[in-house]
Amino acid sequence: MSWPNDSSATARTTIDKQRYVGRFAPSPTGPLHIGSLATAVASFLHARQAGGEWLVRIEDIDPPREEAGAADRILEALEALELDWDGPVLYQSSRLSAYAEAARKLIGAGLAYRCSCSRSRLRAKGARRYPGTCRNRAAHAGPTALRVRVDEVERSFADELQGVVRNTLYESTGDFVVVRRDGLPAYHLAVVLDDAFQGVTHIVRGIDLLDTTAAHRHLRRLLKLPNPRYLHLPVIVNSRNQKLSKQTGATGVDIGAPGRLAATALEYLGAEIPVELGGAPPVELWQWAGEHWSIEHLRGMRAIRER
Ligand code: GLU
Repeated sequence: MSWPNDSSATARTTIDKQRYVGRFAPSPTGPLHIGSLATAVASFLHARQAGGEWLVRIEDIDPPREEAGAADRILEALEALELDWDGPVLYQSSRLSAYAEAARKLIGAGLAYRCSCSRSRLRAKGARRYPGTCRNRAAHAGPTALRVRVDEVERSFADELQGVVRNTLYESTGDFVVVRRDGLPAYHLAVVLDDAFQGVTHIVRGIDLLDTTAAHRHLRRLLKLPNPRYLHLPVIVNSRNQKLSKQTGATGVDIGAPGRLAATALEYLGAEIPVELGGAPPVELWQWAGEHWSIEHLRGMRAIRER
């Protein structure tokens, strides 16, 4: 497939200078629903329009929340939709030693500490942020999580769609968990390490994850990893304003008619598909969208209503 931005030698030189590596990183907690598909399509098109790479990573580090076979079904759906990713799929379950190594580094440098507070105890205290109970505790009975220390500095970053986002971690989350009490790595740690490991330069994902970005940027600062650019997309919400998810009852997409499904995803992203493309296969729709759709359709939007 050729993309408008990589058709000339001049364009290629520019791309070499400004390398773009994007990714789609689903958690296999259920089948792909239209909300996650729209995110996948936007990140795919954004990467391809920049002449960049687009990777797929399966975030399978939370077995209690996962559904057997979901990872394969997600990949089958991407394949049916001709959302061709670059390179091999990375499974986070294959990266446990890298997460453990980083956790050891954080402890060794005094940047993280053991915490034996249970979630129910914290909930009972009504704490919105972690109050630092275990910050200076030397001995613990029972299982412990690992928390990373945060500071009181307000920091900001410029999200390419949502504008400037400010956060003071000390007030919003407090010291946050990087290894859970059950020994599993927390999402924050895994995502930061893997984005660096895969050389990701652009993170295009749902706005529901916007607030996690400050924690991710904090971890990168501590682990001396480069920051990617961020672009948080509006998410599809149901009539009760809830983001589509397994918890809110979203069902998997039907890949029986991939062209129609691709068109639906594009329409959610604000594309007005010409009638001549009715019935076209996904690859033709992506080609058209590469030339005619722009992420600008979504600027400043936080939600897209489910139809
Ligand atoms: N695995 C996360 C999810 O499915 C996405 C992580 C990310 O894009 O940073 O919600």
